[in-house]
Amino acid sequence: MSEPVIFSVAIPSPLRRTFDYLPPQAPSLPDPKSLKPGVRLLVPFGHQQVVGILLEVKSSSSLPIQQLREVYGSLDTEPVIPDDLLKLCQWAANYYHHPLGEVVHTAMPALLRQGEAAQLQGDDVWELTAEGKGLPEGALKRAPKQSHLHKLLLNEGCLSKQQLEHYSVNRTTLNNLISKGLARQSTRLPAAKKHGQLLRQPSLPLNPEQHTALEQIQLQRYRTYLLEGATGSGKTEVYLQLIERVVNAGNQALVLVPEIGLTPQTISRFEQRFAVNIAVLHSGLSSRERLQAWLSTAAGRARIAIGTRSAIFTPLPNPGVIIVDEEHDPSFKQQDGFRYSARDLAVMRASQLGIPLLLGSATPALETLHNALGNRYQRLQLTQRAGQAQQPDIQLIDIRGQQLQEGFSKALLNTMEMELNLGHQVLVFINRRGFAPTLLCHDCGWVAVCPHCDARLTVHQQPRHLHCHHCDHQRPLTRQCPECFSTDLNSIGLGTERSLVGTQMLAKGHHFPAVTLVAVIDADGGLLSTDFRGPERMGQLLTQVAGRAGRERKRGRVIIQSHHCQHPLMQTLIHQGYHPFARYLLNERQQTHMPPYRYLALLRAESKLAQNATEFLTTARQIAEQLQPASVELHYLGPLPAALEKRNNRFRYQLQINAAGRPHLQSLLKALCQQLDNHPLSRRVRWSIDVDPQEMN
Ligand code: ADP
Ligand code: ZN
Ligand code: ZN
Repeated sequence: MSEPVIFSVAIPSPLRRTFDYLPPQAPSLPDPKSLKPGVRLLVPFGHQQVVGILLEVKSSSSLPIQQLREVYGSLDTEPVIPDDLLKLCQWAANYYHHPLGEVVHTAMPALLRQGEAAQLQGDDVWELTAEGKGLPEGALKRAPKQSHLHKLLLNEGCLSKQQLEHYSVNRTTLNNLISKGLARQSTRLPAAKKHGQLLRQPSLPLNPEQHTALEQIQLQRYRTYLLEGATGSGKTEVYLQLIERVVNAGNQALVLVPEIGLTPQTISRFEQRFAVNIAVLHSGLSSRERLQAWLSTAAGRARIAIGTRSAIFTPLPNPGVIIVDEEHDPSFKQQDGFRYSARDLAVMRASQLGIPLLLGSATPALETLHNALGNRYQRLQLTQRAGQAQQPDIQLIDIRGQQLQEGFSKALLNTMEMELNLGHQVLVFINRRGFAPTLLCHDCGWVAVCPHCDARLTVHQQPRHLHCHHCDHQRPLTRQCPECFSTDLNSIGLGTERSLVGTQMLAKGHHFPAVTLVAVIDADGGLLSTDFRGPERMGQLLTQVAGRAGRERKRGRVIIQSHHCQHPLMQTLIHQGYHPFARYLLNERQQTHMPPYRYLALLRAESKLAQNATEFLTTARQIAEQLQPASVELHYLGPLPAALEKRNNRFRYQLQINAAGRPHLQSLLKALCQQLDNHPLSRRVRWSIDVDPQEMN
């Protein structure tokens, strides 16, 4: 008897395992053994028929062969997920403790998940049939229009709809040729743009800093570079010229941008510069367009692919470089389901492919900065503004005890009025919501802090109380300020959802040439956030916002309202800039044992019954402590209520795990997941693991 052929298949399911199948008995697969990993298989799963990905062809299974089911067939002859991408998916599934089947599904465009053919669609064209080609001269003498079209088709080979319009061929003429059997409809791939003509527009002569940055980047080998430069310092120009080198060498460039950054302006900047095919991949596309863009990159036709987070999973047959613009942007981290960080996966992918990765930002994430300061990433800096504009003038307004109108102080309203009267634009910026609410005295700026930790207490509503997210200390809500006895106490952080002109959106990538004043209504939400990343985000947003003021000659102004103007973080940011501010924060993170000096994972659970969630997490903590007892190297915290403890009628709790080393954390999570998957309590809650969480609420 010959060795059995067994397919190991990744199936989209919450189960953290792969599944074994047999080839079909009917010989619909010519040679099952030659099937390559990465092809899609149609398989029975429960009572459903699903699309899985072949991982391996093997000769044994841990299950008895009789129990294995047969696949229905293969959807592809060539892998849709090439080897290197499959490896990346496997790595990500391990690292984020997410089922491989779901990871692989995330990597594919929706239509491929649904079983659509992985084939680039061509444009409709019309061409001559064999009979049409062999038509004797003069046969169409009495139909001059048809004769003319016949000649055109003979000369051109085929004509697209646009070409037919261009030559003013009418539909009847075409149909007449078709009905005579002389012409027929067909499809052709849009012509791949020719090499030779790479640029549409000459590149700009670089300034010395840009030049140095570009020269430092080595092609053909892995290294992560951090290109640091304020808005307008010429980062994009460096990207463009780096891409030019890569494409010139016959390779492809993958550019990731934040969700909000993928504007028509961004795309047109690339399209104006390059004459090669550019694929754009983002969630706003129809699933058909997305499939085409993906396939076109996978086929090597698109030489440049620009996309948001999930574009990190685009196959690149000729990889040359990966660029992540605004690398600090939180949208690179997926916040539900498969919680991956596209930036972090870019590091892994570039190193697997042996190509450079360029991370660009005016305000690098502390993780990235830490890597750059430790020489794991190479730092490239642009310190001058490439354009004409000057740095804005930043002013703080102390709003303690002031009368506010919808959050605006008198001083701010006056300044806004002046600017508007001059015909300038004012950008009003409201801090994004979602920070954990803190109790603050409007008259003196007092904040409710934990008596045991140097941490602010979080306001909770169910039941109303204050809660320390560092040591679990709880106390009732205070009605009066213990410092100044004012009763004007506010929960700040939430409730800043009023939709005025500006939101976080305006802070990014959008160009407002007439904006001369940027007003930040309330900087305290970030400064006092109980989410440890709150101050970092505040610093990034304020710096980005300031970068929008005063481009193009007009000197801009930024006015920031705060109850905490004297806070050292605020002072450092305003007077010394993002860098010293970031170093201050790094120092704080080191002292408080937080990332990037430690590694975090969050085990989240939610349920309609709060008790189910807490019981599950308490059990999870017990299991975890049995696996790895708490130590200096490993802290457990919780279960704690999430900052937003009730959402959609579900109570949300979390258990925080903080480890000194990544491998340590990883092995713990792996063992923990295995036990939790099989635990009866896990069926009563929705639970998930978030590795390197970006949002703590
Ligand atoms: P960033 O990406 O850092 O915001 P850009 O690359 O968009 O900066 O550059 C800002 C502006 O300066 C753009 O209008 C760009 O065309 C221009 N610019 C960039 N580099 C140069 C250069 N070397 N010479 C002249 N203009 C430049
Ligand atoms: Zn007070
Ligand atoms: Zn505490």
